[in-house]
Amino acid sequence: MKEIDISALTRYNVQSLTPYSSARDEFSGKEGVFLDANENPFPSAVNRYPDPQQRELKSKFADLRGVHSDQLIIGNGSDEILDLVFRAFCEPGKDFVVTIKPSYGMYKVLANINDVRLTEIALDANFELDPDAILAVAEGAKMIILCSPNNPTGNSLSRKKIIKILEGFNGIVLVDEAYIDFATNPSLVSELKNFQNLMISQTFSKAFGMAGIRVGIGIAHPEIIEVLNRIKPPYNVNAISQEMALNRLAQVDEVASEVTQLKLERSRLINFLEHHKSVSRIYPTDANFILFKVNDANFFYDELVKQGVIIRNRTTAFGCENCLRLSVGTKEENNRFMKVFDNI
Ligand code: PMP
Repeated sequence: MKEIDISALTRYNVQSLTPYSSARDEFSGKEGVFLDANENPFPSAVNRYPDPQQRELKSKFADLRGVHSDQLIIGNGSDEILDLVFRAFCEPGKDFVVTIKPSYGMYKVLANINDVRLTEIALDANFELDPDAILAVAEGAKMIILCSPNNPTGNSLSRKKIIKILEGFNGIVLVDEAYIDFATNPSLVSELKNFQNLMISQTFSKAFGMAGIRVGIGIAHPEIIEVLNRIKPPYNVNAISQEMALNRLAQVDEVASEVTQLKLERSRLINFLEHHKSVSRIYPTDANFILFKVNDANFFYDELVKQGVIIRNRTTAFGCENCLRLSVGTKEENNRFMKVFDNI
């Protein structure tokens, strides 16, 4: 395994922090009379604090992904995981992080909030990585953030190129795999045994169909997870969300069947767009959305909205001039999109 000095990478004041110890950390048994957490004793579904370490959810998710529980941190959406990584490793006003453009807009927002400089390296015309360009500017950076499959482009980044970056960089390489369950390319989880500097984020918001419960997962070497646990808010995943996520993990066949349906719908939408005279380019996608180019994205966006179909106008994103991003919906929703688009 490629090893890195995680302690040296950690933000100075976080190096000596210990996690807040809650009542439920100090006694995690299930039996007894609980008079330790100043809760209201009258029974209801939610009068008790949730498990701060989300042990059951971690255990089930670890089984699903073939990792160990101590390689997982669970957050209020994967956005919280990304924020925790910035806060645990980057010195505000001093450190810098490297990412790609175009990509998910929250990286910039989180960098700004945490007063961390973000250097964005352009993907090429096919939205593929240039690992040498990234490694050249990442000298001295705390972290490189990659997104695969990438948002808003939809394509998976080359695994070989990501591995080249993992080999050549001694900070953290965070790969955002929010859309991994729609991809033909396998997850990088299998590379965790080879790279201590690899961190992966995944989410219940996409393939699992649970954007509303805000559950995201960070997967990394236990030493990285231990640093993140030092700054994690104690009860960051509420009881209802933990329970609903666990119930969903008991229905993985249903999740898989929905993913299959969405991939079929994705093919149907691509086929429609391919035969449409107003569409000049459709970008390859491994996600549950399709980026495509028209002659005037603002016009098409406005016309679709007028007829009650809302898609995302990405024309201002780097390299995405006149591009629209279409999420794959149900069969009926996609039919509606196609009908309205045809009439414009
Ligand atoms: N990463 C990417 C690439 C995304 O597109 C999104 C949501 N659009 C997220 C992360 C955020 O996911 P979550 O709902 O888990 O915070």
